[in-house]
Amino acid sequence: MGRVYNFNPGPAALPLEVLEQGQRAFVEYEGMGMSLMEMSHRSKPVEKIIGETEELLLKLIGLDTGYEVLFMGGGASAQFALVPMNYLAADKVGRYVLSGSFSEKAYEEAGKLGRTEIAASGKADRWAKLPELGGLSLPADTAYVHLTTNNTIEGSQWTDIPDAGDIPLIGDMTSDILSRRLDWTKFAMFYAGAQKNLGPAGVTAVVIRSDLLQRADEGIPTIFQYAAMAKNKSLYNTPPVHSIYMMKLMLEWTESQGGIAEMEKRSEEKAALLYEAVDTSAGFYRGIVDAPDRSRMNVTWRMQDEALEKKFALESAQYGLIGLAGHRSVGGMRASIYNGVPVEACRALASYMRDFANRHG
Ligand SMILES: *Cc1c(COP(=O)(O)O)cnc(C)c1O
Repeated sequence: MGRVYNFNPGPAALPLEVLEQGQRAFVEYEGMGMSLMEMSHRSKPVEKIIGETEELLLKLIGLDTGYEVLFMGGGASAQFALVPMNYLAADKVGRYVLSGSFSEKAYEEAGKLGRTEIAASGKADRWAKLPELGGLSLPADTAYVHLTTNNTIEGSQWTDIPDAGDIPLIGDMTSDILSRRLDWTKFAMFYAGAQKNLGPAGVTAVVIRSDLLQRADEGIPTIFQYAAMAKNKSLYNTPPVHSIYMMKLMLEWTESQGGIAEMEKRSEEKAALLYEAVDTSAGFYRGIVDAPDRSRMNVTWRMQDEALEKKFALESAQYGLIGLAGHRSVGGMRASIYNGVPVEACRALASYMRDFANRHG
């Protein structure tokens, strides 16, 4: 059976080469008579994999000094709680930019742990556009400001990353890390669950500027401390070694393809194919997000009614186009076109969209 065109929102498509390489190492790793999954996490090969994955991530991003990478469990959702646990001191306020449901979740979690405020919100517009940041001037009692760079469910994405000055800007980049060039130094910290652009589920990459790392709270349980994770090189306890290894393969693939610049080029091309199919459909497909704020990772649209959307999802699946139903909380349609999704997949989907519109319009 051939591979389908996979538009799943996460876990998401991985390049076949990455899967095949992982398969070759699955039963036996580098002639050691056992797989990585059976090896001590304190063994030399595992330490080496963790070190190399960290290095490669920083190299791809172009942040060679001043930042450290941690590999943690619990997904990006754990970071929603760990950020305030580590950085929201009692006399400070965590400020959140709300631009979609994941950012709202992060804000709600922090509210259970300390004082929080909304810095800006697009909720009144039902997330159809990004909120105005107006220079983002933040009071001096701000512990940090949190921004979700790509809104996976709604399909919007920040193009201009705000400058938070001396206040640490913390980014949830789960659904667009490594997909475009950015001024990464605007962020004091960013994190990404692996299962969208970085590999399989099970591990979260957390990148923290050294000075912020030193300020992390050491009064909380050790397993939640960024400082303890850094001191132990992500080996405070047993990490998800296999997931980290797969991330390493995905990063090597990303580098071999031409790195972030190439991923950005492909993302532009992929997104343009789909938005063009939406915009030239004479209203048959309606984009959910205002054009300037549209995401290049998650393309969302609606159709005339739910029955037609259901039909689209069912029929497209028969053509091997998988994962196109919108998130259960918002409905509509969504094509997730992360780094592992090839341009051909988007070409096939765009052509299917035209065909479907001709038949049902
Ligand atoms: C998928 C996603 C999450 C949730 O990730 P988990 O690893 O499932 O906790 C959080 N934030 C964003 C932006 C996401 O896309």
